[in-house]
Amino acid sequence: MKTKTILLLSLPLVIALFYYVYINVSQKNLLTTDQSITIQTKYLSIIPTRCRGCGKCFRVDPIHFSLDASTGLAKVISQENLDSSDLKNAIALCHDQAISLK
Ligand code: SF4
Repeated sequence: MKTKTILLLSLPLVIALFYYVYINVSQKNLLTTDQSITIQTKYLSIIPTRCRGCGKCFRVDPIHFSLDASTGLAKVISQENLDSSDLKNAIALCHDQAISLK
């Protein structure tokens, strides 16, 4: 009888302990999830004071660059797929280092 009473009295403590552990684990998972979502946003642009309109970039990568007819310089036409090999080639080919990807 005494054992049964002790078990009944300790039941709320056991439930509270499980609840405490569950809340802590949930919060740690949330923190881990938040920390793992790191969005790195890069921005592709032309530095107009460096560009001389040679056209290498838009011949190599017409997805990201085109000729701005009003200025005679290159212009960025897409911010998508900034890891493409064509974009890397265009950046490497621009000897004036007029392409910024930050
Ligand atoms: S390759 Fe460089 S200098 Fe030539 S048009 Fe493109 S950004 Fe301008």
